Order: sequence, then structure tokens, then C-alpha cells
Amino acid sequence: MHLRTTSIFLFLMGMILGICMAATGCTREKKPDTPPNIIFIMADDHANRAISAYGGGINRTPNIDRLADEGAIFFNSFCANSICGPSRASILTGKHSHKNGVTGNGAPWDGKQALFPRILKEAGYQSVLYGKWHLNSNPGDEFDYWKILTGAGRQGFYYNPYFETSQGEGSDIDGYSTDIITDEAIRWLEDSMKNGQPFLLMVQYKAPHVPRMPALRHLDKYWNDTIPEPVTLFDDFDTRSHYATDVNFFINEFRPWPKAYGTYDPQENIYLARMTEEERKAYHAILDPHNEAFYRMKEQGLLEGDNMKKYAYQRFIKDYIRIVDAVDENVGRLLDWLDGHESIKNNTIVVYSSDQSYFTGEHGYAEKRLMYEEAMKMPLLIRWPGVVRPGSRIDALVQNIDYAPTFLDMAGLPAPEEMQGRSFLSLLEGKQPEDWRQALYYHYYDHGQHKVGRHHGIRTGRYKLIRFYTDDVWEFYDLETDPHEINNLYGREEEYAGLVDSLKAELEQLRKNYEVPDWVFDPPYVSLKGIEETER
Ligand code: CA
Repeated sequence: MHLRTTSIFLFLMGMILGICMAATGCTREKKPDTPPNIIFIMADDHANRAISAYGGGINRTPNIDRLADEGAIFFNSFCANSICGPSRASILTGKHSHKNGVTGNGAPWDGKQALFPRILKEAGYQSVLYGKWHLNSNPGDEFDYWKILTGAGRQGFYYNPYFETSQGEGSDIDGYSTDIITDEAIRWLEDSMKNGQPFLLMVQYKAPHVPRMPALRHLDKYWNDTIPEPVTLFDDFDTRSHYATDVNFFINEFRPWPKAYGTYDPQENIYLARMTEEERKAYHAILDPHNEAFYRMKEQGLLEGDNMKKYAYQRFIKDYIRIVDAVDENVGRLLDWLDGHESIKNNTIVVYSSDQSYFTGEHGYAEKRLMYEEAMKMPLLIRWPGVVRPGSRIDALVQNIDYAPTFLDMAGLPAPEEMQGRSFLSLLEGKQPEDWRQALYYHYYDHGQHKVGRHHGIRTGRYKLIRFYTDDVWEFYDLETDPHEINNLYGREEEYAGLVDSLKAELEQLRKNYEVPDWVFDPPYVSLKGIEETER
């Protein structure tokens, strides 16, 4: 669409929206004169704790932190279903999993439903995506151009990854995944600034998702440090339901990977096979001595019980933050590019998020999925010069279903009726609407994956009630007195009985409001694939 036509269209849309908002009493004082650009940066499984602006105290992310210093940081941002595909689908559609169809990672993706990138594109935005996509069919006409990681079950590779484009081209690109995705995004920015059209640029990193392979330049960091443990690393699970301990993602054991150089065929491992021989040698030169030390300590009996858990945590978390280091450097490259293009910077919203946060040792876990805080949260930081007051700290409850309506609102566009989330632009502008939500709905469907049971629940500003409905097991937490969720109060405290009853009623109301169908709760609690086949 020609720029002038675009401006007229956006102006008319703004007029319509203005009338609509005046009619509903939901007013916005400031309309963008020129539609703002949006750079949406998303990592995969990036724990809030591993972003220093959240105060985790385990690493430094100066570039991501810049977004908090120069914009807003959300402390109560959550996903609706804590796994990769479902969170991505909720972001794109503004809907809960049962509405957008992506209840689990195996579910089919229907890209024809209303997606915020397509609505922006139809309003005159250039819409492009680089990096990890992960949904079960490729992006479509919601983007002018896309270039996505493929291979390894749509997860992509860290080293010398394979990319596929909207033009049907596929190629291996030399380098490290996080760097390459940024290179491509910056190259696109360099080209796109020539035509002056507003843009949506989605930059989606694979990092720090498993299998964790740090860049060579970070692999030798932190070996002599001791990274603080989470206070619940040695959780005894007293008071918790069996679902908390059924899971299979405990950090208990460390197993060196890869084996020592020269003792295996690297071509048998799809991840190592991506590396050049030179890279593999350099990788082993750093890792192998530490792995040898591990075996020595084990033989000497120094890694029994809790010691093994402590050791395994250190190996896990150090790889994790090494990979986050590359993410932070690359966020810095994007911000530096904007610094060098002041006029674009001043009209560009930069969002940093991750499809979920992650258990980085809390409760002894290393995963997501469960409705506990570390998995249900999502990091969210947003800079918008001239609109978001620098240093804003936002505590209101927001969810990934709100992203699409918010991005549309930022562009002065109304959200389609079918979107279930609500724009949080007013929160960014420093105003919390009186009727802002007081509770969030969560629903995890991927029954049996990683031995996590299907569950849904409600989280308010203070309380959380979870129902594992396969055998009707409940958990209830007071997050004010028990922020780490170690004291399940369900059925234990007389004084909470009335409160639990009212939360149950509220949960049922949320379920009805979001139109979660009855059949998903029915036995035999078939796998996701089964649901898709029989009910959709
Ligand atoms: Ca993820």
C-alpha cells in the first residue's frame, strides 16, 4: 500500500476508533501522529530470573535492562498455557488455547484466523518475521516476508542453522543462531528505512531453549563462579499434590554432553553435526576438562545426594546464562541500531518478551508447563519514547492474550471481537482503568507430556487456585505469605474455606467468560492429538 493511502487509511481507522472509544468511555488522550513501528523481540524459555532488571541476582543483562530503564517493566505478566506453541498462538491471536486451536505443541495451526500481524499489514504496515516460529504450519500472508529456523522438530539449531523463507528458499547459514537472526533483522531495517512505511519486525530467538549450546565466545565464562541457588532448589514437597512430584524434569543428575572429543561419532548427534570440525574442537577444548573433573569428583564420592543436585544446578544455570548473554548482546545490537537512527528510534516501540518464563532450579525443576509462578510468568519490557515514562514499573495483571489487542491499539486500530485479551496501552501510559482485570485464567492441556497432568486455575493479585482435573486434585496458595508456593493450603486451613469456595466460583465464571468447553474436562483425558481428532 502506498504511504499516502496508508496514512489516510490509518487516519480514518483512528477516527472510527476515537468515536468507538468515546462511546464506551474508554478514552486515550494521545494518538500517534505517525503510526509507530513495533520491534517485537521474543526469546524462548527466558526466565524472568535471568533478566537482571527483574532482580534475580544471577546474571547481568544490561541491554534488556535498558528497556526497563527507558520504558516499562511488567512484574505480573503471564501466559495462558505455558509451552512454546500455545504461547506463540495466544500472542498472535489474542485468544486462549481452546479458541485458537493450539492447546499443545502437537496441535495444528490455523493461520487464517485473525492475527495481529495481518491486521497491521492490511492497515499499511510492513510485516516481517525472523527466527523461531515453531507452530505446525509455516507463517502465511500475515507477513510480507519471513525467514524461520527449521530442523530439529521446528526448534532449529544453535550452530550453523538452517533457515526457510517465505519465498520457498532454504539454506544453512554459518554462525550462531542468535547472532544470525539479529544480522537478518538489522539488514532488513537497513533496507526498510528507505521506504518510510511503518513496520512490524518480529525477532524471535531460539535461545535459551534446550539443547543448550552457548556460543564459543561465552563457553569459557562463569566456570569459577558460584551462581546463587533458588530458595526452593531443595523443596521437600511437603503439602503438595502428587502432580508436583510426578514430573520428569528435575535437575538431580548431571550427565556430560557431549562425550569427550574423539570418543564418539559427531554425525550421530544432529546438534553436534551442525558444527564445523574446528568449532567442535574448540567446544571440546573448553568442556572436556570440566567433564573429566566431574568424573573424578564422582569417583571420589564428592557428588552424592545434595552435592550432585548443587553441581547439576551450577552446570545447568551457567549454560543457561551463557546463552542469555548472547541474547542480551544481540538486543544491544538492535538498540544500538536504533540509537544510530534517532528519528526511527523515537517512533519505534521495542518489546522484549519470551514465550514463557522457566523454572531455573525452583522446586528442583528445569522446565515450564505447570501453573506455578516461574512457568506461568512471562518477562515483558516495553520502550516507547514519548509515550511510556522511563522507569515505569507495572504491577497490574496482564497476559499474552493481551499482546495482540495492545499492538493494534498502539497502531490506532481496534481489535476484532474474537480476540479475548484486552489492550494494556493505558497501563503503559500510566493509567490503570478502574475495571482492569483482577484475575487470570490458565489452562494446560498437554496431558502426560513430561508427566505433567492437565490442569486449569485462577490467579488473582494474591491467591492461586489450581485444579488438576484428571483426578480432581486441588492446590491453593497465598502468594503474599508464600511467594515461592511451598505451602499448599487446600483443604488444610479452616480459615480459607470460604475464600477457596469463592475462588472456585470465580474460576468457573472465568471459564464461562472465555467459553472453555465442557468436553475438555471429560475423561478419558486423551492426548492432545486425540482431542484434535475427535473434537475439532
Ligand atoms: Ca518456550
